[in-house]
Amino acid sequence: MKAGFVYDPIYLKHDTGQHVEIARRLEAIISHLEQTGLKQQLTAIKPRPATIAELSLVHHEQYISLVRETAQRGGGWLDMDTVMSPDSYDAALYAAGGVIKATEAVMNGEVNSAFALVRPPGHHATPRRAMGFCLFNNVAIAAKYALSKFGLEHILIIDFDVHHGNGTQEVFYDNPQVLYTSTHQYPHYPGTGSIDETGSGTAKGTTVNIPLPSGCGDAEYQQVFQQIIVPVAKRFNPQLILVSAGYDTHWADELALMQISVTGFAQMVKIIKELADELCSGRLVFSLEGGYNITALAASVKATFEVLLGNTNIEDPLGQTRYRWTVPNIDPLIKAIKETHNLL
Ligand SMILES: [Zn+2]
Repeated sequence: MKAGFVYDPIYLKHDTGQHVEIARRLEAIISHLEQTGLKQQLTAIKPRPATIAELSLVHHEQYISLVRETAQRGGGWLDMDTVMSPDSYDAALYAAGGVIKATEAVMNGEVNSAFALVRPPGHHATPRRAMGFCLFNNVAIAAKYALSKFGLEHILIIDFDVHHGNGTQEVFYDNPQVLYTSTHQYPHYPGTGSIDETGSGTAKGTTVNIPLPSGCGDAEYQQVFQQIIVPVAKRFNPQLILVSAGYDTHWADELALMQISVTGFAQMVKIIKELADELCSGRLVFSLEGGYNITALAASVKATFEVLLGNTNIEDPLGQTRYRWTVPNIDPLIKAIKETHNLL
């Protein structure tokens, strides 16, 4: 089983200064993969910059120019959370191009699955603006690219970042060829992602939001995956699965209040991999979104690769949550989502 990874030092040059979304995140992932010997088991995929035509599959020309010009001016803030340095535009081109390259490698059969270890992340970026640390919407661009380049008709995007991927939802809200499903803490940043946002026109039903109360852990995510994401995926029957992999759902992450463990991420990835194996010849591409506790992030990404390689021995150095949350009962929520999406 061949698993690929995309990485390039250009991603470290997106300098955010005093920020949670920092180069150290990727450095820690790469050094953890090296120290544990896992990196040697993976196939390196070299990224390239996305072209303007590829960015334009999702973003408006004026917005692309704004990002480029902000970098040329030496950087600056594009919204209250999103900052650029002089090299951020190039890093962002390589982030989008990295997910494209990962998708190509999977579609061409060079690897069975791939994980693009990129930054800046993408899922909050909308066609016209930067948001939530994101400049270009890497996963949305790769999905659009795969639709046109490989003539695909059904792509599933699974987003398990703790935040709702408002940008990705917006891009595909009226596109019946891409089913976007997201698990996220709700209410929380960015405020979107309620059950009744389900898509529009012929795409009604191809946005599946799973807004979860804070305190959900491994068991609740298992329940959500088994009872909603698996049946939705089987009904949609994708030819490719893209994953917005955000690890800020980990219990030790300070940006949100979910209680997933490294073991819990491995369980989710296993379900996703089994779906890909069953539905689309294993074609599966991960792209890094959030994850701000460096130790939890590195261990969770490693666990993700272990599952992609078919390994069952998952190390969980942080163990289960140390917080005493009252575990929420999500049965009524699951029932409501099933009713909304005719899964009963
Ligand atoms: Zn996030």
